[in-house]
Amino acid sequence: ASKRKGKFTYTFYSEEMVEGARYRLFIEQGLHKALSDKAIQAYWQPIVDAHSHRVVGIEALCRWIDKDAGMIPPDSFIPVAEETGLIQALGLHMLREACMLLKLLEREGLEEIEVAVNVSGQQLKDSQFLEALQEILEDTQIQPQRLELEVTESTLQSEQASLLIWQLRQAGVSIAIDDFGTGYSSLSKLTQMSISKLKIDRSFVSGLGEDSRQQIVVEAIINLGRSLGLRMTAEGIETIEQRDYLRDKGVHNMQGYYFARPMPLTELLAYLLEQRPQSSG
Ligand code: C2E
Ligand code: MG
Ligand code: MG
Ligand code: MG
Repeated sequence: ASKRKGKFTYTFYSEEMVEGARYRLFIEQGLHKALSDKAIQAYWQPIVDAHSHRVVGIEALCRWIDKDAGMIPPDSFIPVAEETGLIQALGLHMLREACMLLKLLEREGLEEIEVAVNVSGQQLKDSQFLEALQEILEDTQIQPQRLELEVTESTLQSEQASLLIWQLRQAGVSIAIDDFGTGYSSLSKLTQMSISKLKIDRSFVSGLGEDSRQQIVVEAIINLGRSLGLRMTAEGIETIEQRDYLRDKGVHNMQGYYFARPMPLTELLAYLLEQRPQSSG
């Protein structure tokens, strides 16, 4: 905060601001190195069918594994990555990982499973994003519709990002709206751009049963999704009650700790093989 006193002007930094700036610098400098050292890793969270509980998708979630600090969650470095432009490299790394997983799933005979990657609005403002993604698709030779990009509602407000999303759809990639209900979306845009899925934000799911108004909002979101003919995934399912309620309301897919937590690749593969229906003779 800046204060004026008499004819002197001075700037006063609070301790929190200094701490905040120091922390940011720590993250910024570390992130650069983490990216080149491959310390940014993809964890994978299964998404299941609401009825059969079979795995239908997997979301890539990045973690920074620091040898001293341990695991650093994305909420503490994604904003810094966005501000510094490092999100471009981070995002392409995650897309490469996702396409490699799709390739692996194909080899394991699990080609019906989709893989989703979070894409921040910042990435969609980069004119080189589309070309870079197309190169990854070509290198890995995966079917583009099995790759789903998760964007937030606010992203759709940018004309530039909307145009790119439309181009991505032309390239065959699927698009999901993440954290649906927490932002503002233009309903006409959802239909114009042939969005394939809505992901109902965890904040609505966690409030179910406690607050009847929350229930009304969730039902309105589900009805909206159904009217628009969109597939819906509920995020953050932690209890059997949440699972049953949302399934009965018509939500197609579920994701949450109740089913599985985000996990490293080796654990994911073990989980998938265990879930795979046995071919009975
Ligand atoms: P998101 O895309 O909405 O991802 C869902 C978040 O909910 C993840 O947090 C996941 O671990 C968490 N979650 C899933 N099920 C449950 C549950 O049952 N209970 C609770 N309490 N949490 C659950 P995470 O991994 O910490 O990621 C946070 C956010 O960071 C993501 O939210 C996404 O917006 C962003 N993010 C993560 N990875 C990337 C990435 O590679 N690129 C970009 N741009 N953003 C990313
Ligand atoms: Mg997401
Ligand atoms: Mg989400
Ligand atoms: Mg989120």
